[in-house]
Amino acid sequence: MERNRIFQILFLIVLALCVTLTCKSPQKSQSQWLDMTYPYDNNTIYWPTAKPFQLVKLDWKVSEAGWWYASNEFSASEHGGTHVDAPIHFSENGRTIDQIPLEEWVGPAVKIDVVHKCESNRDYLLSVEDILAWEEENGHIPGKAWVIMFTGIDSKYYPDKKNVLGTSKTGEDAIPDLRFPGFSPESIEYLVSNRNITGIAIDTPSIDNGQSKDFLAHRILCGADKLALENIAQLDKLPVSGATLYVIPMLIKEGTGSPARVFALFN
Ligand SMILES: [Zn+2]
Repeated sequence: MERNRIFQILFLIVLALCVTLTCKSPQKSQSQWLDMTYPYDNNTIYWPTAKPFQLVKLDWKVSEAGWWYASNEFSASEHGGTHVDAPIHFSENGRTIDQIPLEEWVGPAVKIDVVHKCESNRDYLLSVEDILAWEEENGHIPGKAWVIMFTGIDSKYYPDKKNVLGTSKTGEDAIPDLRFPGFSPESIEYLVSNRNITGIAIDTPSIDNGQSKDFLAHRILCGADKLALENIAQLDKLPVSGATLYVIPMLIKEGTGSPARVFALFN
């Protein structure tokens, strides 16, 4: 009887410990991770006059001594695939990639959905009204925000050059045929003058639309010391508000831009 009692007490202690440990075990995170980066390979989209990404496999073999060894060489223009622009890109005294502190690359994501407008107009320019309509529904643009124009182009077509750029030609001949939406100069002027933003992003190869000749969107943004992010992936899966965008560029000394690993976290 005495023995049974001891077992009963021991059983209860073990049970209590199990319950306590279960309760104290870390709660599974509710956050979702969204990788918003396109891979660098032969299909990566570059400006028609830029040098594309190249990977050369140097080894990838078992050495004479019997162990495996693999290494590659890669080269590319700064501005291609999922990449960022530093202010120096279009502003003579602007900062280079290495002069921008890490924390500046992280901020709340504001997704402005203009997919339907871009479907009926390949040259569509985001307007101040589009920004105000987003705020009407979602509240004031939060401080340090990345303001993202969702055109639907990349999520539908990337890496199909003809459908993303408007042409599959390369070189100078391709420039007049570039056709994709972008930010209007007025929308950027409005954002840098009236809101506290980190930068702007788009799911096309450039924040200026394909038909732009003066690159005013770039010039106003870079002149205001703000950042740009181009060819952001998986925008169709990003919520309209509430996500945090992490933009992690390669740390290129004196870089005017850089490939970036981009991801979002949201609940
Ligand atoms: Zn760029």
